[in-house]
Amino acid sequence: MKKNQCCPKCQSQNILYVPAKGVFRRNAYQDIVVDDRKLKVEQYICKKCGYVEAYVCDDDLKEMEEL
Ligand SMILES: [Zn+2]
Repeated sequence: MKKNQCCPKCQSQNILYVPAKGVFRRNAYQDIVVDDRKLKVEQYICKKCGYVEAYVCDDDLKEMEEL
């Protein structure tokens, strides 16, 4: 879904991308906090079936290596 912009559940290509630092307002609980480190999460939402995929954004993957 991240790479091919296609929903794995219904094969729709109508995907909404929600960046970790973006204009979309989100509930704070969608970021992941581990030992005071905050991992920002970006999401892909299928507009057809509502399926959501979430990824820790690339900048924060380095943080995870140290956990
Ligand atoms: Zn779908």
